[in-house]
Amino acid sequence: MEYCAECKVKACYTGKREVVPEDCPMKCSDVVEKSLEEYSAEIKEFARQAALLESEGYCRWTRVEETIRFCVAMKYQKIGLAFCIGLKKEAEILSKLFRAHGLTILSANCKFSCVQKEFIGISEEEKLRPGTSEVMCNPIAQALFFNGEKTDINVVMGLCVGHDSLFFKYSEAPCTVVLTKDRVLCHNPAAALYCSEGYMKSLYVPY
Ligand code: SF4
Repeated sequence: MEYCAECKVKACYTGKREVVPEDCPMKCSDVVEKSLEEYSAEIKEFARQAALLESEGYCRWTRVEETIRFCVAMKYQKIGLAFCIGLKKEAEILSKLFRAHGLTILSANCKFSCVQKEFIGISEEEKLRPGTSEVMCNPIAQALFFNGEKTDINVVMGLCVGHDSLFFKYSEAPCTVVLTKDRVLCHNPAAALYCSEGYMKSLYVPY
């Protein structure tokens, strides 16, 4: 089973500790106890607002609305928006929405830094469009910029797989994702999962 994703018991969810499976992570380690020690007053308030967001807006508020409401509820002063250049239009709309709610938003796109892809060892043939000048995404620069500005939270919009990982790794402020990029599925990656038993069965073929 290898834990939760393929577990059929879900004892954690139903609260029935007596039927917890043998290889459940709750049994195998002391992370639960350790995790609870992390809940300082500040973290508890963060978690409490997230829980309130869920209960108050359940199936009513969109992700965009939830994101803005969370920042308002947390009384954040400065928000970083790290976005993919391909989503410039969407980022502009989101920036205006945040400002309409009285929030200060700083935005930096993924190409911010203007460094050529050669810097990370991309050859001419490996470029998206060989023979042209291609600037690399620099999520570390995005994160460091927001760190310097001491943003309260960073909102990620459509950073590429892996580039988002670097952004999360280097960001000092907590992060949330407002939009996950999927160039094929109109930014709805879950569609591939819903089709994985049919039209997209090839997803199961090892690469
Ligand atoms: S925590 Fe344990 S009971 Fe809950 S889903 Fe994971 S494996 Fe199943």
